[in-house]
Amino acid sequence: MTSQALQENLQRVRGTLASSAAAGGWPVPRLIAVTKTHPAEDILPLDGLGVKDIGENRVQELREKLPALDKKFRVHLIGRLQTNKVKYIIDDVCLIQSVDRVELAREINRLAAAHERRVPVLVQVSPAGEPQKGGVAPEEVRGLLREIAPMEGLRVSGLMAVMPMSDDEAYLEGLFRSMRGLFDALRGEAMDGVAMEELSMGMSGDYAIAARCGATMVRVGSAIFGPRQ
Ligand SMILES: *Cc1c(COP(=O)(O)O)cnc(C)c1O
Repeated sequence: MTSQALQENLQRVRGTLASSAAAGGWPVPRLIAVTKTHPAEDILPLDGLGVKDIGENRVQELREKLPALDKKFRVHLIGRLQTNKVKYIIDDVCLIQSVDRVELAREINRLAAAHERRVPVLVQVSPAGEPQKGGVAPEEVRGLLREIAPMEGLRVSGLMAVMPMSDDEAYLEGLFRSMRGLFDALRGEAMDGVAMEELSMGMSGDYAIAARCGATMVRVGSAIFGPRQ
């Protein structure tokens, strides 16, 4: 895509984010540009446009692109992560957003300890109960948090949600509001070892609703780069 198109798309997304957040009375969420399927040369111009956070969902693809990205970005791992692949990305990511089972947390913890690090993670929630997308059901979040909170190699920093595909805005808004409600409730509970700081929700189809409902981060791909091939 041309740099002008990229710039225009970004401007549109940022404008929508700002107005939607204002409409809901929330701070403007941080924009994570989802760069999966796009080559490094298409990603690098984001740096000059003020985008510092990128999201990738596949370990292999991220590994291949990292050298060309030249440490210019904070990388968020946003997709399903196999336990045996954590070792390939642990030193290169700023936040693993997709922790949805104890075994995965244990492996991150084990490697983080070996590297004397604390790795920031989010617990992935499936608000509509779609296990094929990963994520725990809302009623299982507390149990998972209790198990992973004592792990010293993790810094448990909040929640991430992937919404179902739907054109029904009222339905989606209800789910986003319930996620924000869960996030606020957990924050109020102030569990030891859990810092409820980030609520990552909203993608190209629904980030405006997410911003209106109190997301702190949105993960936007195709609205910035155009449709994936
Ligand atoms: C691909 C992806 C996104 C971005 O999707 P778009 O619809 O292109 O904005 C966000 N979150 C996750 C987990 C993804 O896999």
